[in-house]
Amino acid sequence: MQISPEILPRIIQAIAEAIEKNAEAVTQLDQAIGDGDHVVNLQRGIHALQAQSAEIGQLDWAVVMQKIGMTLMSTVGGASGSLYGTLFVTIGKALRDKTADLPAFAAAFAQGVESVKLRGKADAGEKTMLDVLIPAAQSLQNSADASISLQELLADVTHAAETGVEATRKMLATKGRASFLGERSLGHIDAGAKTAQLMIAAIAAVIAS
Ligand code: ADP
Ligand code: MG
Ligand code: MG
Repeated sequence: MQISPEILPRIIQAIAEAIEKNAEAVTQLDQAIGDGDHVVNLQRGIHALQAQSAEIGQLDWAVVMQKIGMTLMSTVGGASGSLYGTLFVTIGKALRDKTADLPAFAAAFAQGVESVKLRGKADAGEKTMLDVLIPAAQSLQNSADASISLQELLADVTHAAETGVEATRKMLATKGRASFLGERSLGHIDAGAKTAQLMIAAIAAVIAS
């Protein structure tokens, strides 16, 4: 099964709408344990991608992922900018000279998530976007290896991301701005984990439709 990059304008639009719809709630999350700019940071990147969206739909996956990464790196800023930049640039590199089928995507996404861990010197359980990205990558790899339907795979990844974001509530932040608060970070969902989950849900919904 292969999906064409021509799906990207719809995905970018769905992500823009999901972040816009949840802007106030996510901003409150970043205000509670961060500096409140996460949605604004992310929306700068999303707007830049919307402006490129017709063009990038015509490229091949390896090139387009690297281009998305470069755009995010240069527009988003904050901790999340370089992390998402690294994620997509690494996915692009991993897809070079590969047939962009499901197993290749799953492996590329897993490599991308590894690069985020390295860049942020962080791992699972530190109350960051990684608490969504890591279980999502695991779910994708498990599903790509199993013979389940695309609809099931998408539902599983969406569910893994939801479980991941909820788990950040009881985690102590040890990376990023929230770590400055120590125990006061307990009881709050991480903003970056929430937007990662919203984006995964939006991507899955477009592919499923
Ligand atoms: P900043 O914290 O610089 O204001 P953002 O608000 O855009 O940047 O992004 C904050 C989010 O980035 C956090 O909610 C967290 O999910 C993620 N984050 C911060 N530091 C790290 C890290 N070292 N590794 C992984 N994710 C991180
Ligand atoms: Mg912030
Ligand atoms: Mg900031």
